[in-house]
Amino acid sequence: MVGAADPPSTIGECSERCFKLFSQGPNTVSLLPHDNASRVKASFEDEFARFKLWASNIGVFAEVHASLDFRVRELPEVKELFLRQLDTIECRLEDQAVGGAEQSSSPVATPEAEDANASFEKWDVKETLESIHESVDWLHRLSNWVRKASFVNQNRRAKVFLLRDSKGNESQELTDEMTTGLRNVYKYFVKHNTEDLDENLRDRLIETMITRHIRILYRRSRQMSWAISKVHYAARKVDTPTNSQNPITSEQTSIIQQRQPKPLKVTPRPMIERITTPPENPRPATTVNVDIYGTLSRATSAPWRNEDGMPFPLPPRAASMGEDFVCPYCCLILPSREALNHMTWAAHVKKDLDAYFCVFKECDSPYEIYSSSKEWLSHMSTRHRMRWQCFATGHEPLLCKTSEDFETHMRTVHAGSFSDKQLPFILEISAQPITPTLEHCPFCSISDGDIEGHVSGHLREFALRSLP
Ligand SMILES: [Zn+2]
Ligand SMILES: [Zn+2]
Ligand SMILES: [Zn+2]
Ligand SMILES: [Zn+2]
Repeated sequence: MVGAADPPSTIGECSERCFKLFSQGPNTVSLLPHDNASRVKASFEDEFARFKLWASNIGVFAEVHASLDFRVRELPEVKELFLRQLDTIECRLEDQAVGGAEQSSSPVATPEAEDANASFEKWDVKETLESIHESVDWLHRLSNWVRKASFVNQNRRAKVFLLRDSKGNESQELTDEMTTGLRNVYKYFVKHNTEDLDENLRDRLIETMITRHIRILYRRSRQMSWAISKVHYAARKVDTPTNSQNPITSEQTSIIQQRQPKPLKVTPRPMIERITTPPENPRPATTVNVDIYGTLSRATSAPWRNEDGMPFPLPPRAASMGEDFVCPYCCLILPSREALNHMTWAAHVKKDLDAYFCVFKECDSPYEIYSSSKEWLSHMSTRHRMRWQCFATGHEPLLCKTSEDFETHMRTVHAGSFSDKQLPFILEISAQPITPTLEHCPFCSISDGDIEGHVSGHLREFALRSLP
């Protein structure tokens, strides 16, 4: 526990103590009748499983430089937030152990104890479990926050990440060879699905597909190196909500349906198993069993298609086995309910896609990937669709494509009517992006309707094809 006079604990130490308390199991001595005790035990095990999922996902027990303690070493306030939740869990676990022991000397349960809740209240086991549940929720949230905060760094590191083959070998040569293989697959795929696309944009599309693919592999590889758990994480199977088999009504589908581009013709699974297959013998763990694939389960291979033919991957199997699971794309911990309904799962995957890149031929940052359509549109609008308009009387309204042209116009036609100091201000108020940001689709030349929404559909579809 974190006491004022104690030396500051590490997250690893606190987690270790919680781990031990969890391992002892719940104190169910007084919990009669028998089925209440087994319910408590099951709920307790579920919380332990969620705790292990957390510890594994964020690398609590990983070797020093990969550990959570190391990663938050310069963020004391973040560390404190983790410790606070761990402290709560530890207290609750200790309390229930003592509480259960006290109750063990009390008389045997009365017939009313058949009411499960009444029995739960005996040593507030319900409250205890709820409190633990809430704290583990917080640990999940904090971990996701830490991981999201480092996405930019992760994407940078992914650029120099060495790919591994199915035997676990890695080297620069191998990485180059595998990247070339990936490029050839995507080249083939893109060529057969983008007849109208400019060569320059086609190349950009292929490179962004490779970048996305490798970014996800990198996240997974980090996940694997952190996923060192004390024991095997085996989530208890939970009942699947009845709506999971037919999760989408036609009404719901029409709500999300926009004017989608035609689905792509060719639908091969990229032939890159060599790259995507996880190594059979991952990096050795320092002390304990490594259970990588339990916590980072893969999506099943057959994609699920929405009505527009978008090939959304099915949720990973782990999502139907516990209350939480690790997303195979962003590697964050997600509540399983998010994956048990195709709609919410597709919405989540959409966010993981990082689908957007600039579709203007001449661009200063052609390979930049935008995770939201808002950022994407903002880039294109401010960098490619900005115009400078001169409203001065004495000539027809004039629209300049560049600020330089506008400045030249001002200095020649309106010389003497403003000072040099005023010019930046004039430039600023004269600039405005023209709409729509996109006038036609570079993929299929459509030029009416919501072109921006339509093009973003193309980009999402290609992004879905580049998921490992
Ligand atoms: Zn995700
Ligand atoms: Zn651009
Ligand atoms: Zn003018
Ligand atoms: Zn199109």
